[in-house]
Amino acid sequence: MQYSDDAVHLGRGELETLQVELLREALCRARKAPAYAEALAGISPDEINSTADVRKLPLTTKEQLRAGMPEGFLAIPKHDVVRMHYSSGTTGLATAVYHTRDDLHRWAVCAARGMLAAGVTADDVFQNMMGYGLFTGGLGFHYASELIGCMTIPASSGNTERQIHLMQTFGSSVLHVIPSYALRVLHICAEQGIDPRRDLNVRVIFVGGEPHSEQLRSRIEEGFGARVYNCYGLSEMCGPGVAMECSEQDGLHVCEDHYLLEVLDPETLEPVEPGQPGEMVLTTLRREAMPLIRYRTRDITHVLPQACPCGSMHWRISRLEGRTDDMLVVRGVNVYPIQIERALLDIDEVGSNYLLTLDRPESLDCLTVAVELTQQAFTDEMRVLTSLQRRIQRRLHSELDISVEVELHEPGGLPVSEGKAVRVVDNRSQENKS
Ligand SMILES: [Zn+2]
Repeated sequence: MQYSDDAVHLGRGELETLQVELLREALCRARKAPAYAEALAGISPDEINSTADVRKLPLTTKEQLRAGMPEGFLAIPKHDVVRMHYSSGTTGLATAVYHTRDDLHRWAVCAARGMLAAGVTADDVFQNMMGYGLFTGGLGFHYASELIGCMTIPASSGNTERQIHLMQTFGSSVLHVIPSYALRVLHICAEQGIDPRRDLNVRVIFVGGEPHSEQLRSRIEEGFGARVYNCYGLSEMCGPGVAMECSEQDGLHVCEDHYLLEVLDPETLEPVEPGQPGEMVLTTLRREAMPLIRYRTRDITHVLPQACPCGSMHWRISRLEGRTDDMLVVRGVNVYPIQIERALLDIDEVGSNYLLTLDRPESLDCLTVAVELTQQAFTDEMRVLTSLQRRIQRRLHSELDISVEVELHEPGGLPVSEGKAVRVVDNRSQENKS
């Protein structure tokens, strides 16, 4: 029998009643964690009578998770933990997240919900190209795919030639991949004379793990002849599957029967109006091993207030507009790397990889944007290249309001990573020290 999930059909009222009930239970569970015992002691579950009452509870930050390492946020006897994950720690020390068997099942249910919404069925062959291991990218979707009944290929990340070989041999129809790595696969296909639209069977691709622009999604869709769906997650919640796009490909439905969503002004910590951007704050409603109350994700998003044509009443968040941590301050101007990506990928001659380098040679910030060109563009004569370089420079200047240096590289000329792409190298702090 085809796997299905009824929670997507909950009405708004039913959903909020359920959330209040679950929030009270979450509060009782969270109190058992040493790190929360004191902070939550004075608040009774009876004080939670609406979802807005979540604001009576304290916020939790990444710094607090770090301070509570290794077991401060563990709310159950260790005997009942069946797995731990360790966050990537891109902005500091990594933190551990614990799961019971039921926690892992609920994670699979959340990820499977997004897969079903994109039309995945038991007839699909699912090639999971996310890293398996401490990183949560791989395992969440792995169990979701098995729950649905797909033939699951645990390819993990890397070894691009073998990935393509697996797709060809087993007719992989659904992929899960980091977006910059999907472009890498297209690049290797082109080198090997493989046309993914003709020679591969891929029809659905789930991407996540790094912020990327709508332009980058279009390039992956065109390259594979497939539909690309955004997924959002973070290891502190479970991993990928917290919010996923439906068939409309317009905003990501949050699994609101598992996570209570708030969007707050990161300065005042007050809720923003629906539709306004702010920091996403999430509370785990059902997690047993490590309940988190009002966790500040540092991810910037906004709620799409309109009802979704797909019929799901779970709120949609916009695709990620960057993390508060991603913002670069260049000569006093706020710059998000994704703004640069959007501008670059609007230019046809620009290939699939770019790198931003920040230096401070004479106490003035200097931003260099190195771009790979397409094979065709790179063979143009010098005069054409120089004018292209100036065109890219002007386009970035009008987008960012600061002048930048532009370097052109041949396809494959910039370093590639098989995990999350390294898009920014900031040398400024070292130069300050010297
Ligand atoms: Zn929808």
